[in-house]
Amino acid sequence: MPDAPQTRTRTGGCACGQLTFQARGEPKRVGLCHCMTCRKISGSAFNAFVIFATDQVTISGDMKGWSATPESERCYCPVCGSQVFDRDAADEIEIKLGAFDEPNLFAPTYEAWTKRRESWLHTPDLTAYPENARKD
Ligand SMILES: [Zn+2]
Ligand SMILES: [Zn+2]
Repeated sequence: MPDAPQTRTRTGGCACGQLTFQARGEPKRVGLCHCMTCRKISGSAFNAFVIFATDQVTISGDMKGWSATPESERCYCPVCGSQVFDRDAADEIEIKLGAFDEPNLFAPTYEAWTKRRESWLHTPDLTAYPENARKD
């Protein structure tokens, strides 16, 4: 009988290294968002994120937050300005895929706000939602 798989812990943090996190176990879902707020706050064409339950994640370091909507707070490092994660009211934490310490840990399965997607970006394997994604 194989042993039960050990709970995997993955680490990450901001560019300067003072705001860090550990995420235990597997994420609930992995996606992309093309909405204008994600574009503006990241300065990038889209946001790639990995969603965990809040109790799977341990955070250490100083952070500041900004809320575009009452449901979520976008948290960033006050030293280097990196976007690291969003906390939301549904006991979920949305960690930025690019904030993890290694590449190729996660691959997205869906994308939200494709009505704002750049026309040069082709993601035929992802489930596309024109606006907010359904969370089922
Ligand atoms: Zn930092
Ligand atoms: Zn967004």
